[in-house]
Amino acid sequence: MMSARSIESAKGAGGRAPFGCRTDIGRVRAHNEDSLAAAPPLFVVCDGMGGHAAGEVASEIAVNVIADLAPTHADAEALGQAVEAANHAIIRAAREGRGRTGMGTTCTAAVLDHERLIIAQVGDSRAYLLHKGGLQQLTRDHSLMADMLESGQITPAEAKVHPKRSVITRALGSSPRTQPDLYEINVEPGDRLLLCTDGLSGMLENDEIARTLSRESDPQECASQLVDEANAAGGVDNITAIVVDVTGFSETRRRKLARKTKATAAMLLTLLALILGGAALAFDYLVDHSAFLAEQDGKVAIYQGIPGEIAGFEFSSLVEVTNVSLTDLQPGTASRIAAEEVRLDSVRDAYNLVGSYEAEIAEKAGVSPDEDPGEGEPEAAPEEGAAS
Ligand code: CA
Repeated sequence: MMSARSIESAKGAGGRAPFGCRTDIGRVRAHNEDSLAAAPPLFVVCDGMGGHAAGEVASEIAVNVIADLAPTHADAEALGQAVEAANHAIIRAAREGRGRTGMGTTCTAAVLDHERLIIAQVGDSRAYLLHKGGLQQLTRDHSLMADMLESGQITPAEAKVHPKRSVITRALGSSPRTQPDLYEINVEPGDRLLLCTDGLSGMLENDEIARTLSRESDPQECASQLVDEANAAGGVDNITAIVVDVTGFSETRRRKLARKTKATAAMLLTLLALILGGAALAFDYLVDHSAFLAEQDGKVAIYQGIPGEIAGFEFSSLVEVTNVSLTDLQPGTASRIAAEEVRLDSVRDAYNLVGSYEAEIAEKAGVSPDEDPGEGEPEAAPEEGAAS
């Protein structure tokens, strides 16, 4: 962990949530009792109090404990428990002589988990959201002024200058039973989150804060300018600001989706290639292991391959035009050959078949009507005679 005073994590460089932060002593105080943690997805500001530097001990303990225990996703209960643990740690430290009895701190702790924001709140530090140019205060102060404003006893203008304006009604370190208010908020890409101590919100009007948040696109530059403006307005207190841009799911989701789509497409293409490759191999095999007979100038021709066309392509080649005339064959056989319906497993089988035709023809020619049919091939002769 880096310096307890201002915890900034290099995790921010990973592109999760662009943020900027700055804490400043201001122009009046002798100590800076504010502490902050900016370790995405966690962002914390704490405004310590207690005098004689005890406030900074309390705020340091709070950011350290919360940075150690905070959830890494939008679990409001877990963030609340981290803040409660910080409360106990401050009380224990005071008891053990670190800091002073009665030291305490405010705490505004936020976890920005893509488009889900959770906040645990104690005291009068604040979280604001800039949404489409409009500034909303997300947290309710635990302060005397907030109570008086709500009950209508004073106006916002009066609260700004009220002598008891810094009295807070809830702080870490004051009671073991102190609990934070928990907020769960949906945010959108393009929104901007501001966490700040009252040294900023007490010095600048909401419209001034909104203007700077809208104008300065770089979050670090923006946090720095807000602190400068609070100083320019008087800087009567310590000033701390964290500015976080909401990038949301969209970018992460888009990239993840693109990766997934690419992987799926690659898988489908591979599958298709396998199918086509397999089909091509099978087709090649079929062509290599097929033959058929056809008519060529009245003769029986032997072809290797498959008759006909597929998509304008022929998948056959002429092997030989034999001397066998179709007219010498039985009419049924001749018409089947003419229709290219006589198919075989190989060219050799085709030659064998043509050979058998030649034998039949020769036999038929050899059996003259003068000879005794009974002496010839007894079984085949009557059939052939009947057929032709
Ligand atoms: Ca303060």
